[in-house]
Amino acid sequence: MIDKNVFRNFSYGVYLTTSYDENNKPVGCVTNSVMQITSEPSTVAVSINHENYTNQCIKKNKKFTVAILPETIQPSIIGTFGYQSSRNVDKFEGIRYHYTNGLPIIEDACGVLICEVIDTMETNTHTVFLGRVTIAEGYKKEVPMTYRYYHEKLKGSSPKTAPSYIEEEKEEIKSAKTKYKCRICGYVHEVDGELPDDYMCPICGQPKSAFDKIEETKEATFS
Ligand code: FE
Repeated sequence: MIDKNVFRNFSYGVYLTTSYDENNKPVGCVTNSVMQITSEPSTVAVSINHENYTNQCIKKNKKFTVAILPETIQPSIIGTFGYQSSRNVDKFEGIRYHYTNGLPIIEDACGVLICEVIDTMETNTHTVFLGRVTIAEGYKKEVPMTYRYYHEKLKGSSPKTAPSYIEEEKEEIKSAKTKYKCRICGYVHEVDGELPDDYMCPICGQPKSAFDKIEETKEATFS
């Protein structure tokens, strides 16, 4: 038996992995399975779903960055990078970044690693990229965001393509307030009465129409 709750106790971080596509457009996605493999030479590994556009871009140009996000990062940046695709949108619009060696570097990170792919490993859903770190820059003494912080404080969830994705279990809601849940990212917003028409999801930026009302009764369940 595999109790998937055990995986919740991994102390993942929250990162943006960026690269560029064949038209030199900056691309990127949220990753939480990132780890340092060796110190000398500095290498890291990152796991990215096959369906993510960023995956195929990194396979082509063999370069990527890992931006370590601080707790203070705007949640909408995680929403844009985590729940939309670089195929369709320019995720970097309105975001502070610059280029180093052709790679888009997020300014509001608490550190960014620039890597060259030295090996890959395929699983049935994800590619693990092993990257040699060529530059590490932008160090800031801020508290890096953990996945637990994202989940508990920002009330975010994993997209289905994340390695850490776990199907949500029924949770008990013990409140008389009306709750609305974003179908895109799983964010739950509590409000007295109706959601305002101009409401937008603070995590993924979706409009009111992306929200489903959750029962107002004292022991409603959602999945
Ligand atoms: Fe959302």
